[in-house]
Amino acid sequence: MSQLLLVEDEPRLVASLSDGLRTAGHTVEHAGTGRRALELAASRPYDLMILDIGLPDQEGFTVLRRLRSTGSDLPVLILTARTSAEDTVRGFERGADDYMPKPFSFDELLARIRLRARREPDYVEPPTIEVGRCELDPVARTLLFEGDHVTLSPREFQLAHLLMSRGGDVVTRAEALDHVWGSASADNVLDVYIRYLRSRLGADAIETVRGVGYRFVG
Ligand code: CA
Repeated sequence: MSQLLLVEDEPRLVASLSDGLRTAGHTVEHAGTGRRALELAASRPYDLMILDIGLPDQEGFTVLRRLRSTGSDLPVLILTARTSAEDTVRGFERGADDYMPKPFSFDELLARIRLRARREPDYVEPPTIEVGRCELDPVARTLLFEGDHVTLSPREFQLAHLLMSRGGDVVTRAEALDHVWGSASADNVLDVYIRYLRSRLGADAIETVRGVGYRFVG
């Protein structure tokens, strides 16, 4: 989904394009003149401008030149009935990123928008896990105990992660061994690591469920 600035003066085309683009999940704002287009582009962050050439106050080429002269790198897709090679070249020379002739296929327009629109960086808030006094960040691979950083080896971290990600449910011994060490590991290694985690997080942070496994309390 992109924030689009549609610069077009033909009301019916504005209506049908806006409808179609919104249905496709985009946000659309509209400018009917070059002047308005430049005002909007200067005031808001868009991902793409769809620019007509035949505008009432100035040519789309002029809008594009003025836009670029402000230092803007907003991607611009020219959508026009003017399709001579000369016009196309002129569009690209002025800094257009794409050039589409009218009439056009709406699906092709959507594909080109996907291709040209400015991409937001794929930032996803890392999902931290909080249990009791502990907070674990699986991306940064950190564990905080009452806000203080706890140094853990990779296996200790893996074990803590497994226990904490269960949200208070029991992790069986077999599961923990298999997850952290692989199935063919000595049984007592788990006790050693549980002891170590308890020494860092408090003896009551991990409950033993007799005959079954462990539950993280935090
Ligand atoms: Ca026009």
